[in-house]
Amino acid sequence: MAILITGGCGYIGSHTCLELIRAGYDIAVLDNYCNSKPEVLGRIRELAGRDFPFFPCDIRDEKALRAVFDAVPVQAVIHFAGLKAVGESVRDPLAYYDNNVGGTVTLCRVMQQAGCRCIVFSSSATVYGKDNPSPLREEMPVGRVENPYGRTKYIIETLLQDLCASDPAWSAMLLRYFNPIGAHESGRIGEDPAGIPNNLMPYIAQVAVGRLEQLSVFGNDYNTPDGTGVRDYIHVTDLARGHVAALAYALRHTGAEAVNLGTGKGCSVLELVHTFERVNGIPVQYRIAPRRPGDVDVCYADPAKAARLFGWRAEKTLDDMCRDSWRWQSLNPQGYDA
Ligand code: NAD
Ligand code: UDP
Repeated sequence: MAILITGGCGYIGSHTCLELIRAGYDIAVLDNYCNSKPEVLGRIRELAGRDFPFFPCDIRDEKALRAVFDAVPVQAVIHFAGLKAVGESVRDPLAYYDNNVGGTVTLCRVMQQAGCRCIVFSSSATVYGKDNPSPLREEMPVGRVENPYGRTKYIIETLLQDLCASDPAWSAMLLRYFNPIGAHESGRIGEDPAGIPNNLMPYIAQVAVGRLEQLSVFGNDYNTPDGTGVRDYIHVTDLARGHVAALAYALRHTGAEAVNLGTGKGCSVLELVHTFERVNGIPVQYRIAPRRPGDVDVCYADPAKAARLFGWRAEKTLDDMCRDSWRWQSLNPQGYDA
């Protein structure tokens, strides 16, 4: 039996493929390449030292999805496939509801028909909204979300909880990620955003490599020690290992569980910039710019539940994250296009 990884060619999916193989799982991957490149598959295979089945498939295409489940006996699904750009979701909510919510409904229907009732889902800290104070805990109220992207995550969490309530054979892990950064330590796979990056670390890395001129630091008048926004940055390899641990738990239990995957430590924008400069010996040009609408002062996890439930905690440091982000960016200045 294999673990099917939807969106396995993406940033977090590609790292999770490797960690699953390392942990001894057989995997199968599907992706429609709407935000990734076929090149990544060769690199995962090269790093893993073995092959695995890949299906170029859209999760909204029920017939194609059924063919995947016919071709491979699937024990569980790790579901990364989705659109993730907040601004784009405000401009084009239908694309987000269709892809993220519609796609997940189709995926769950096909899983159910195939007798596969175990799913690990990529949710986000964004479901906590603006009102909850950090450290954020899983039992805090969720759903007062600011944008359509975040609402699709909340809706999918709710739908998976409803599915588990309807049928005690279902098992769903709702993994609430904080801010994944970094790359595989080999520098062979990493984050390769299309166009100008929305997120802080890929922006810093592209300034450092000379693709972008200057970072805009969005606001220095937040209620934080240095005035810039504080987030919980987590190494993508730690995050990937969190999926392996959550999967093992999901395969042994039923019902729905929401679990934070974060370090529990906050880091400001300027702290991240200066850590990157120090660790890599490279200056990063920046200027202070106005606040970005919708941003909160502080957002970090209480990661205790993941430790209690499945023995996982983040191990890598901010220095590791900055070093590995730079190794990936400097070895692949144009991402997978090179
Ligand atoms: P990503 O865009 O790199 O990966 C997503 C992958 O899914 C891409 O390869 C894309 O081509 C594929 N995909 C999208 N829609 C698809 C569809 N309909 N059918 C098949 N494949 C499809 O994103 P990522 O950063 O790796 O994030 C993975 C998941 O984690 C997403 O669901 C995202 O919302 C969630 N998440 C990410 C972050 C983050 O900061 N990166 C934070 C919280 C949650
Ligand atoms: N940020 C910034 N400049 C950028 C991108 C992000 O100052 O070009 C800040 C942003 O305001 C927030 C932090 O960096 O305080 C993390 O933003 P990101 O978009 O990476 O993640 P978010 O937590 O918003 O999902």
